[in-house]
Amino acid sequence: MRIVLLGAPGSGKGTQAKLIVEKYGIPQISTGDLLRAAVAAGTELGKRAKAAMDAGELVSDDIVLGMIRERLAEPDTEKGFILDGFPRNLSQAEALDTLLDELGKPLQAAILIDVPFDSLLKRLTGRLTCEQCGAVYNIYTNPPKQEGVCDKCGGKLIHRADDNEETIRNRLQVYQQQTEPLIDYYEKQGKLHRIDGEGDIQAIFQAVSAVLDGLS
Ligand code: AMP
Repeated sequence: MRIVLLGAPGSGKGTQAKLIVEKYGIPQISTGDLLRAAVAAGTELGKRAKAAMDAGELVSDDIVLGMIRERLAEPDTEKGFILDGFPRNLSQAEALDTLLDELGKPLQAAILIDVPFDSLLKRLTGRLTCEQCGAVYNIYTNPPKQEGVCDKCGGKLIHRADDNEETIRNRLQVYQQQTEPLIDYYEKQGKLHRIDGEGDIQAIFQAVSAVLDGLS
């Protein structure tokens, strides 16, 4: 199963990706997570990416494509993968198609988690992430059982550095300008599936699962 999850920041695609990992046993490849790990580890790549991330801009294509190329060469992607947060613009989408063609493993579907723009700001300002396991919560829509503590691993819940209002506005704008055209790109390839991203997490996951079950 080889899929791309599309959706604005705050659409819940990371949450859905984690549910897909649990049910279907294929790895989630999140360029945002890979970049945050590189920043935290203080690697050369992390240093190059940090300023763009703090500002809510896209990191350069060469950095991100290099990371994806390396990650897709790992054996756990043999059975498939979910790309989350990649591609983010048309040139990344084209580069991905070329790479997967070379590997003889073309994408099967692009799943758009569709959330009205007005809801996104609130979702993002309320978002909390577990610093230990990466589980995602929201103080408005999906709070943890105990304030500040991860239900799954007991880790500490933190606000991501780029989940502040100014950076959020920029990330949403970058999404509209650079990432939204991918909806059309995958629609033309006949690979796009739209899922209503508002409402209960499990109900959304059922709709996602129905698409995935239709692929295999
Ligand atoms: P995310 O966790 O997907 O919201 O990504 C957080 C930040 O990492 C984004 O605002 C970008 O600065 C950077 N980033 C993540 N994925 C990409 C990508 N595919 N291309 C460029 N920048 C990215």
